[in-house]
Amino acid sequence: MLEIHQFPYGDDNYGVLLHCHNSGETAMVDAGDADAGEQALARTGWPLSQIWITHHHGDHTMGLAALKAAHNAHVIGPATGGKPVAGVDQQVDESAHFAFASREVRVLTTPGHTLDMTNFYLPSEKLVFTGDTLFAMGCGRLFEGDAPMMWASLNKLMALPDDTTIYCSHEYTVGNATFALSVDPNNQTLIDRAQQVTDLRIAGESTVPTIMSLEKATNPFLRAGDPGIRSILEMPNDSDAEVFAEIRRRKDNF
Ligand code: ZN
Ligand code: FE
Repeated sequence: MLEIHQFPYGDDNYGVLLHCHNSGETAMVDAGDADAGEQALARTGWPLSQIWITHHHGDHTMGLAALKAAHNAHVIGPATGGKPVAGVDQQVDESAHFAFASREVRVLTTPGHTLDMTNFYLPSEKLVFTGDTLFAMGCGRLFEGDAPMMWASLNKLMALPDDTTIYCSHEYTVGNATFALSVDPNNQTLIDRAQQVTDLRIAGESTVPTIMSLEKATNPFLRAGDPGIRSILEMPNDSDAEVFAEIRRRKDNF
């Protein structure tokens, strides 16, 4: 059983530490803030052995050099979609699974937000780190890729088991819920969840992680095939990819 410690940094980012008591190994997902990472390591007392980088954006990489130097950690990061992230020791794509604490880590490339977006899935734990691809009730903005690319990436994540636990890199959930209600207003599961996440934030708690089944039920970006959403968008006969693109456009202008 791996232990997980999620910690906030910056305006709305989350970093995660993954730790195995048996082997003593610890992985950090993303390295956007060295001070926040050091505080999380000090608080847990876990020694850093690996860092997994999801994509090149500064809020995910700015602390990498300092954390790597301080802990001599092995850094795994994207192999495709742009120039390598500085400090990455091992570039991985979907052909290059790796091991953490004797567990298989599968690499999923999910371009769209960036071309180098890399997600990490541990089948033994049913655990996935989706970076800025899939958020709770949202998805990443299309900075480098396009809508068909992101739709294919989200489908790759949707193929994971429904009981997969999802850690994403930002606390955007309340804003995402408000938008979701604008395109899916009659979805009672969504209405209930919007209230729940609002209450969590008022209490100062995190809305992350989430679960794939809940995302499929409430995340409009995964629900392009839903008849209710299609009727509101007046797109009854368009492809799922086209409906997704329209939902993404509306979110950009929301
Ligand atoms: Zn990003
Ligand atoms: Fe980000």
